[in-house]
Order: sequence, then structure tokens, then C-alpha cells
Amino acid sequence: MPQPLFDLTYANLPDGLYTLYQPEPAPDPKMVFLNNGLAAELSLDQDWLRSEDGLNFLTGQQPGDITPIAMAYSGHQFGGFSPQLGDGRAALIGEILDGDGIRHDIHLKGSGRTPYSRGGDGKAALRAVLKEYVFSESLAALGIPTTRSLAAITTGETVERQKMHPGAIVVRTAQSHIRVGTFQYARLRQDESTLKALADYTLERLYSQINGANPYAQLLTQVIDRQAKLVAKWMSFGFIHGVMNTDNMAISGETIDFGPCAFMEAFRANQVFSSIDRRGRYAWNKQPEMAYWNLTRFAESLLPLLHTDEDKAVAIAETELAKFSTSFSGAFNELMLAKLGLGTDAENAGAFLQATLSLLTTTQTDFTLFYRRLTDSVQTSDNSTFLALFTDPARAKQWLNTFSKQSPNPEIMAVNNPIYIPRFAQVETALEAAENGELSKIKQLLDAIKKPFDEHEAYANLVKPNQQKGIPQQTYCET
Ligand code: AMP
Ligand code: MG
Repeated sequence: MPQPLFDLTYANLPDGLYTLYQPEPAPDPKMVFLNNGLAAELSLDQDWLRSEDGLNFLTGQQPGDITPIAMAYSGHQFGGFSPQLGDGRAALIGEILDGDGIRHDIHLKGSGRTPYSRGGDGKAALRAVLKEYVFSESLAALGIPTTRSLAAITTGETVERQKMHPGAIVVRTAQSHIRVGTFQYARLRQDESTLKALADYTLERLYSQINGANPYAQLLTQVIDRQAKLVAKWMSFGFIHGVMNTDNMAISGETIDFGPCAFMEAFRANQVFSSIDRRGRYAWNKQPEMAYWNLTRFAESLLPLLHTDEDKAVAIAETELAKFSTSFSGAFNELMLAKLGLGTDAENAGAFLQATLSLLTTTQTDFTLFYRRLTDSVQTSDNSTFLALFTDPARAKQWLNTFSKQSPNPEIMAVNNPIYIPRFAQVETALEAAENGELSKIKQLLDAIKKPFDEHEAYANLVKPNQQKGIPQQTYCET
């Protein structure tokens, strides 16, 4: 089994953007999950990945001649600026080209302290690793751009997070780990050549279709557009990222960092899960505003490249940023209408969407089941399972009357309304069991969320909503 061909082009960037770093060896590495589907997409040989060399590679002990790196970045965390963050418990161990010539980072998290660890231990608990695995694979299966999880490996150590947990590593892949915070970091260096090198690298790697005049302004346009569409997709599935700091926003437009994230169950537009988000900064309906805020920080970092005249640079940034709102609303309306089997040309589309969200708000119905049982009712012409979701179905019946008159398309509904999402309580139970060495629950969850639109009797236990109306559950950063 030959070793796949890895390289590390990020290490050609100016030194300040990263530090060469050798991850600590895991005392007793054991593969918990290897993502065979993703390995195949990346043309990585499963047998090699499972071999001793493969396991060494995945835990940062390179059989080849690449030295891993820890990437440096800054970040606005909940609005406050931290100039010096970076991979505090992570390393970029290689890059690989897939069959389409797209480059992917192979990155591991949980291998010990790095120069950017500050007070942290650089380690990860198995439950946090598996949570990232489940959520990233769920988003990928729903068609939401995201980093992926290639492997979850226990290290043989224990890690303390309030109590003791098995230590683990998640190996994740991304089209790139460059963040808004990476640009903030480059800008802080007051050295335009580093910023330019980072922007040129980003253009070549992630936005190679851009050419012509002012590529940096076009980069801003494209990043804004991808981010607007990403947030619209999250929201259309009820996903709440929970920690949309600028260091957790990828320039590729992929979802990154699954800390306190969750899927909303009983509908509340201002729903927050994260225990540290006390002010509701990253609530479900605040996500567009927060993405815009982060993108403004991105635009500020790019200013020296947008124009030599600062006023003109600011004017360019403002023009591009103003496009966010149209881009987001267009995508959001389209997706939310598709969930109802309707096109954007539907009669009174905007008003009907509002009426739908208002029904969800008053009845606090489970967001996923509302759309899914509605899909079933259109497919079978039987409203009973849909109406059974409501304690008092009078309002829902009234709403259904208007809805039915619009000839919803069941095929469109079927591909936009999943039945399986990682629900809070099922995830918790599965993580708890996994840490006690019992993997069957997490395996079942992974199998179900990988085909989120296909309902099966065997997964009936995963469909039940858990969140009691009005009582929000809390998620933790898991760092
Ligand atoms: P996050 O909130 O997970 O996005 O992390 C914010 C920052 O804290 C990043 O720079 C991380 O690398 C760092 N960090 C998080 N957890 C740890 C840890 N256990 N050890 C060292 N650094 C960490
Ligand atoms: Mg982060």
C-alpha cells in the first residue's frame, strides 16, 4: 500500500502566518470511526489509512517528510477582539488533491499544546470529537457546505473537562482552514506583503474563477455571497452555529467549528443553545446580522488591497457589503419556499412565508417535523400525522387551507425536508454511551443522519422531539 501523495502549500506563505509544529504522539491510538465515503471522495486508500503508517499519519506522526503546522489567526470572540489566537489544539498535517483537482486540508484537532495554546491543554475529549463528527457529517448530508470528519481516534489518554473523559483526535478536512480571523491577523502585521500573499493564495486556491480588474474586490464579493448562502442554508434546516466568531468563519464558505451548535426543535426564532451566549448574540434569527458583522471585519482587513486611496477602498467595501442583504434574503426565501414545495413566483410568497413562521411561533411546533409531516401529507393526501403535531390544530387547519390552494410540489418538498437531524437528547445519550465504550447508539445516529431524507422504521427512536416547549436546552463549547 503506497502512501498517498500529500503536500503542504500553506507552508509556502510568509512565516508569520504559521509555526512549524510537531503534534505529540498518542500513547495508544485506536480508530473509532473512519469515514469511508469521504476517504473515497478524496481518493485516500482506506486500507492505508487503517494501517500503522496511516494511523501514524492521522495522529500527526508523519511517515513522509512534511512537517505539520499550526496556523495563526486573530478573532473577534463575542464582539471582543483577541489579536493572537491560532490552532491551539490543532495542526495542519497535509493537503491532498481530489479527483477534480480540488485541494483539501487534512487537519487534526486534539494532539496537544501548540505555540498558540495559551492556557489550554491542546487536547480534546472523545465526546467533543464525536459531536463534531456527527454534526459535520449531518450538515454534509443535508447539502450544507462544511468541513468534514475523516476519522475519530482515541489517544489512550484521559482529558479533564469538569470530569475525566477519554482523549481523542478528530481528523477533519476542509477546502481550506483560512478564516476571517486569518485575514485580521495578516492585516495586524502592518506588512502589506503578508496580507497580499494570503489574499493571492486564497484567490488561487478557493476562487480561481476570479480574473480581471480588482480581484480583491471580487474576492470580497464572492466571500460575502458564499457566506450569505451558507447562513440561509443553516437557517432553512433550523441549524444554530452558536459561536460565529470571526475565527470560526471560513473564507471558503464552509461551516467550521462545531462547538455549542444545535438544531432547533420547538420553533423559536430567537432560540439560543450555547451556555456562553448569554445575550443571544448568535440566536437562530441573528445569524445573518452576525455574518454581516464578521464580513465587515473581513472587508476592513482587505482595505489596503482594495484601493491605494483609503476613501476609495472604503467605498468599494461598502458597495460590496451592501450586497449581503439581497444575497441572503434571496437565498433564504427560495429555500424556505422550497420547503413548502413552492417557487419564488408563488402568489404572495413573502406574506405566506411570514404566515408560516408565525404559525410555527405561536404553536412552537418542532421545526423539522412540521415540514416533514407536511411533506408526507402532500404526498399521501392525508393530513392526520401533520395535524397531530399540534395540541390545538385549529390554526394549523386554517393555514393548511391557504397552503393547499397553492399546489405545492411534493418532489421539491421531499428533498428539502429531512426526517433525521442530530437531536439534542439523542446526541447527548449517544455521546455519553460512547465515552463508556458503547458505540451502537452513535453508529445508529450516524447511519440515520447520513441519509437524512429516507425514513426508516428502525430509526423511529431518532425522530421524537425532546425539547419541551419553552424550555431551551443548553450546549457547551466542549473545548
Ligand atoms: P473555539 O472556541 O473552539 O473556536 O477556540 C477558540 C480558540 O481557543 C482557538 O484559538 C483554539 O485553538 C483555542 N482552544 C480551544 N480549546 C483549546 C484547548 N483545549 N487547548 C488549547 N487551545 C484551545
Ligand atoms: Mg475555533
